[in-house]
Amino acid sequence: MSTTFTVVNPATEQAVAEVALADVATTDAAIERAHEAFPAWRDVAPGERARLLRRFAAVVDEHVEELAELEVRNAGHTWGNATWEAGNVRDCLNYYSATPERLFGKQIPVPGGIDVTFHEPLGVVGIIVPWNFPMPILAWGMAPALASGNTVVVKPAELTPLTAVRIAELALEAGLPEGVLTVLPGRGDVVGQRFVTHPLVRKVAFTGSTRVGKQVMAGCADQVKRCTLELGGKSANIVFADADLRAAAASSPYAVFDNAGQDCCARSRILVQRPAYDEFLGLLEGAVAGMKVLDPSDRDSEMGPLISAHQRSVVQGYVDEVDVAFTGPAPDGPGYWVPPTVVLAESTQQRIWREEVFGPVVAVLPFDDEADAVALANDTDYGLSGSIFTGDVGRALRVARGVQAGNLSVNSHSAVRYWTPFGGYKQSGLGRELGPDAPHAFTEEKNVFIAH
Ligand code: NDP
Repeated sequence: MSTTFTVVNPATEQAVAEVALADVATTDAAIERAHEAFPAWRDVAPGERARLLRRFAAVVDEHVEELAELEVRNAGHTWGNATWEAGNVRDCLNYYSATPERLFGKQIPVPGGIDVTFHEPLGVVGIIVPWNFPMPILAWGMAPALASGNTVVVKPAELTPLTAVRIAELALEAGLPEGVLTVLPGRGDVVGQRFVTHPLVRKVAFTGSTRVGKQVMAGCADQVKRCTLELGGKSANIVFADADLRAAAASSPYAVFDNAGQDCCARSRILVQRPAYDEFLGLLEGAVAGMKVLDPSDRDSEMGPLISAHQRSVVQGYVDEVDVAFTGPAPDGPGYWVPPTVVLAESTQQRIWREEVFGPVVAVLPFDDEADAVALANDTDYGLSGSIFTGDVGRALRVARGVQAGNLSVNSHSAVRYWTPFGGYKQSGLGRELGPDAPHAFTEEKNVFIAH
C-alpha cells in the first residue's frame, strides 16, 4: 500500500504536493495522544477555553488568503468560494467560542432534594471529512467539539488534505495544547475506519457518501458509539407559476452549480409548474449561458472544475445516458471540466432523476399543483435540502412544511448558515450540525440528584 499521496490541482492536472498517509499504528498513537490530552483540555477554565478558541479564530483570520489559495489549488474551488470557506472556519470558531461559558445544565424540581444536569464532553471525537468542502465541514465538527471540551482527531479526504493540515498548525500557533487537535491524512478504509473501531474514539462525525455513511453507522453500533452522519442528497428546487420567474431563474443555477455541483445540498432536480415551464426554461438558459466558468484562481470565476478525472468520468456517465437540453460554458485545455448542464427529465425513474450525480448537471420536470410538487419532491431516498420559489407566503410555508428535507429556502438558493441547524431527513443523514445546539451533540447529558 502506498505511503504517500500526490495531491493534484484539478484545474491544471499538475501535482501540487506529496502528502504522507497515516497507517493504523500512526492513527492509534494519535488517538492515544488525544486521549491523554483530554482531561487537561476538559478542565481548562471556561473563559480560558473561550479565549483560546477566539485566538484560534484570529489566527485563521490572519491566514484566510493563504488558506483560500491552498484550496483553489487543491480542490479547484473558486477564489470567491475558497475565501468564504476559510472565513467560515473563523466564524465557526468565534461562534462556538461562546459555548464554554454557556454550556448550561438544568435545575429540575424533585422531592427530597434538587436535581441538576451537566453536559459532559465525550473524550476523543473523530471527524471524517469529504473532499467537496474540506474547510467548512472540518470546522462544523471541530469547533463545537473543541468548545464543549473534547479533543479531536480529523481525517481529511485523501484528495484534499492541505487546508486541514495547515489549520492544525494554526491551532498550535494560537496556543491550543498539543494533542487537542490532530489532523491525520490517510485512507478512508484505514484512518477513517480506525476512528470507527478504536474504543477511545467516543464519537464519529462523518460527512460523505450514503454508502460509506451506512458502513460507519454499522461499525459504530458495535460499540454503541455516537455518530452524526451528513450524507448525500437529491434535492428539489420547486418553481411555482406565481413566482418572480426572472429572479427564480437567476438564482437557480447557483442552487445546483455552486462548487461545480459537488455539493450535498445541490438542488439537482428542478420542478416547474406547467404554465411557467417554457418561460422559466428560456430564462434559465440565459442564466446558465451567462455563468462564469473560469480558472478558479480568476477572481471572477463562479464555477471551477470537478475534483478529479474519476469524478468527471462518473458525471459524464450520467450525461451520456440522456439528451442534454443546453449547457453553459467551460474552458478548453487541461482540468477536469464539465460545463453546467441542463437535462429535461423524461421519467422519474431515470438515473439522472434519482441518483446523486455530484457534478454540474440538473434535470427539469413540470408539475401540476402543490400536492404534485410535494409528492415529486419527496419521491426520493434523500432529504437534505430544497428551494421553493413562489409569490404566495402561505404556499411557501405549506410546501416547506410538506417537503421532507432538513434545510429549505424560500425565494433564495441559500439555506446553510453556521448559526442555524444543518442536517438531513431519510438517507441524507442522522443528527444535526451547526446552530446553537451543536455543542450538545458532543456531550453526554448527566443528571445528579442531591438529597436535602
Ligand atoms: P466517501 O464517502 O467515500 O468519502 C468521504 C470520507 O469518508 C473521506 O474522507 C473518505 O476517505 C472516508 N472514507 C472512505 N471509506 C471509509 C471507511 N470505510 N470508513 C471510514 N471513512 C471512510 O465519498 P467519495 O469521496 O468516494 O465520493 C463518492 C460519492 O459520495 C460522491 O460522488 C458523492 O455522490 C458522495 N459524496 C457526498 C458528500 C456529501 O457532502 N454528502 C461528500 C463527498 C461525497 P478517502 O477520501 O480516503 O476515500
